[in-house]
Amino acid sequence: MRSDPIELAARAARMPSSTIRDLLAVTEQPGMRSLAGGLPDPAAFPRDRLAAAAATVLGSDGGVTALQYGATDGLVRLRTLLAHAADLHGLGPSNPEAFVVTTGSQQAIDLIARALVDPGDSVVVDDPCYLGARQALVAMGADLVGIPVDDDGMRVDVLADRLRAPAFRPRVVYTVANFQNPTGAVLTTERRDALVELAHHYGFVVVDDDPYHALWFDGPSPIALGALDDDRVVSLGSCSKVLAPGLRVGWLRAPSWLRDTLVRVKQACDLHTSTLAQAIAADVLADTPFMTEHLSRSRSAYARKSRVLAEALQGCGSGRAPRGGMFLWRHFHGADTEALLAAAIADQVAFVPGSAFAVDRSWTAHARLSFATLDRAGLVDAAAVLRSLVDRGAAQVAATPA
Ligand code: PMP
Repeated sequence: MRSDPIELAARAARMPSSTIRDLLAVTEQPGMRSLAGGLPDPAAFPRDRLAAAAATVLGSDGGVTALQYGATDGLVRLRTLLAHAADLHGLGPSNPEAFVVTTGSQQAIDLIARALVDPGDSVVVDDPCYLGARQALVAMGADLVGIPVDDDGMRVDVLADRLRAPAFRPRVVYTVANFQNPTGAVLTTERRDALVELAHHYGFVVVDDDPYHALWFDGPSPIALGALDDDRVVSLGSCSKVLAPGLRVGWLRAPSWLRDTLVRVKQACDLHTSTLAQAIAADVLADTPFMTEHLSRSRSAYARKSRVLAEALQGCGSGRAPRGGMFLWRHFHGADTEALLAAAIADQVAFVPGSAFAVDRSWTAHARLSFATLDRAGLVDAAAVLRSLVDRGAAQVAATPA
């Protein structure tokens, strides 16, 4: 029997599939050398320590804490550890009550979008912008306004100019201030101060999405936006890049006027984040000697990989060396990186073209290259393929006639 098709809700119809997810299907083909996903290096997963943590939490109190339903805002033990884990977020000692454990920081973005965005609302984002944020915000009907990102992060001066128009009153400004995805940029201290001042003057919330906080190379990033202000800034963080994304344990720290609303929204979404994963994360985070050593090893490994890829690409496109995180943002002058990607995939190399992150600008000659996942040989091979394609002009855009 055939019936008429049932229409999707407007929210679902608005949700484009993520270019990265579509690409990941290609990158799973055997032999593909992928610079595409922001997937942590599997060699950095603390497998043994996680296994020991799982045994501990299942063995203590009959495993009840780890296996039973839990409070929506998360295990008190984990929130208390997070409130004092300055090396993971730079917030300084905080009240554990301000923290909410989320199912990855992605869920934190979604909860904020659900709590603060009505269809048609302007929401300010980095341009280029982290794709997952774009998806969550657009699903809630946000009208995204991209503020350009340069080597020093979001151009807060451009935002200030836009805000001079009385009709432009966004409620949310979303940025990745540290080692931005996709550019790797770090927002300067001056711009941080200016952004927080604008947030007070014009009445908006700054969402500081900071999953790469602990992965700095030469020195920690500037003072966290949430350390400058705890009434206008929501700070997001995650165990994904420092322990393992499979745990799906992230967090948010919200101002008191917003925190309980976010908890109610989360309750409707998933009741709570996996208690088993939270208990495992807490056991590992409580082990300070292990975490100190593990973070230090991860930082050195990612710093080394970033140098390997940058050196292998020398003279092939341009871009500033990242100061942390997982990405190289490369400008292939005069090239179309979507065409470059098509040619690269034929040679079993994948990356994400700049256009995937575009909001109001096109970024067609840029590409995000992740150095996190491949080993040294893989990075060198992938760079050699890109170099050869660029040298052969595989993606050169024909000059537009004058
Ligand atoms: N924000 C940014 C900027 C990211 O790069 C990522 C992961 N790619 C996330 C949020 C989501 O991370 P998770 O949900 O695993 O914590």
